[in-house]
Amino acid sequence: MEEKSDNPRLGVVSTNITWYEGKVSAADRKRVLRQEAATIWLTGLSGSGKSTIAFELEKQLICLGHAAYALDGDNVRHGLNRDLGFTPKDRTENIRRIAEVARLFNEAGVFVITAFISPYRADREMARTIIGVERFIETHIAAELDICEKRDPKGLYKKARAGQMSDFTGISAPYEAPTNPNLRLNTGTMTVAETLDEILRHLTPRFRER
Ligand code: ADP
Repeated sequence: MEEKSDNPRLGVVSTNITWYEGKVSAADRKRVLRQEAATIWLTGLSGSGKSTIAFELEKQLICLGHAAYALDGDNVRHGLNRDLGFTPKDRTENIRRIAEVARLFNEAGVFVITAFISPYRADREMARTIIGVERFIETHIAAELDICEKRDPKGLYKKARAGQMSDFTGISAPYEAPTNPNLRLNTGTMTVAETLDEILRHLTPRFRER
């Protein structure tokens, strides 16, 4: 049996579930952590540089004294999303769960950097809705397919070309590039350090004085 939740964001939930408000406000958390949390949502082809950038950015934010956590595609698929594959339906559910986790981290005041191909525009829009427009920073890691294929850090393009992998983004599954991302970083022409500088510049208004 299902009914509407008290929390409009959640939509349909099981019966006998009530939304409880905590006693700590978002402003309290901002004051303690001295930052306005957001999710830097990296999207792009396999091999475009999402994981590399996510873990470097996480390290830099921590070095600067900010609470930050990187959520990476393969890592999440080892645990929370281990039951999901790569069909469109599973990819959508993968993104929904990640967005819910990112939202929780942001609610806790922590910056989140997500490194998922997230190839479908509609799924990223869903993530934006779950996380909130103010906190969702869509960042297109925009390397050309031939560059990603040349890098092929996990040997996946080779497998996909050999027909050993189905539903592979860019080869046998579509990638819908963002039309109007908050940031677009071309890792074919920019160094890792340059991309980090640009993201950090974008985040600076969210850092508070210590
Ligand atoms: P993804 O997570 O998007 O699949 P990875 O970060 O795993 O991509 O792999 C990207 C590869 O490209 C790494 O081997 C990285 O060292 C290399 N690379 C070269 N130039 C860049 C750059 N400017 N930004 C990010 N990665 C780069």
